[in-house]
Amino acid sequence: MQVIFMGLPGAGKGTQAERIVEEFGIPHISTGDMFRAAMAEGTPLGLKAKEYVDRGQLVPDEVTIGIVRERLSRSDTKKGFLLDGFPRTVPQAEALETALDEMGRKIDVVIHLEVKRETLLERLTGRRICRSCGATYHVIFNPPKEEGKCDKCGGELYQRADDSVETVATRLDVNIRQQEPLLRFYETRGLLRSVNGEAEIDEVFAQISNILRGVE
Ligand code: AMP
Repeated sequence: MQVIFMGLPGAGKGTQAERIVEEFGIPHISTGDMFRAAMAEGTPLGLKAKEYVDRGQLVPDEVTIGIVRERLSRSDTKKGFLLDGFPRTVPQAEALETALDEMGRKIDVVIHLEVKRETLLERLTGRRICRSCGATYHVIFNPPKEEGKCDKCGGELYQRADDSVETVATRLDVNIRQQEPLLRFYETRGLLRSVNGEAEIDEVFAQISNILRGVE
């Protein structure tokens, strides 16, 4: 089951990915998470990525493609994978196709979580993340029981630098511009399936599960 998750930042990919991993047992490969981990560790990759990530810009293709290629070569992807946040550009999509081809594999389906821009602005600026376990909250729509503290592990909640009001609009616009040609890329290949991401979390998950059962 080789799946790509598409959708703008804040569309709910992370939330749905957690549930897909649980239900279908495939690894969640998020380039954003990989960059943030590298940044937290201060690796050479992290230092390079930081220049772009903190400004809400895309990390250069050659860097991003390199880390995804490496990740896909690991054995836990044998059963399949859920790609989240990658590809973000047509050259990335082409590089992915080539890499999978070389491995004798292919993408089964591309799920597009559709959410309006104004909803995304609201969701992103209120998003908070646990420093210890990565769980996500929203100050209004999904608040923790105790302010600033994770319900699951008691960790400290923080706001991603690129979720600030100043950065979010740029990030959304960059992503909207970049996503259009990618949607067409996968539509042409007959792989694109759209899901209404404005619905309740459970309802969205039900729609996604239906699609994934169809490709299992
Ligand atoms: P995300 O968590 O997916 O919103 O990604 C956070 C940031 O990481 C993005 O704003 C980019 O700076 C960087 N990033 C993540 N995925 C990619 C990608 N496929 N190509 C380029 N940059 C990326």
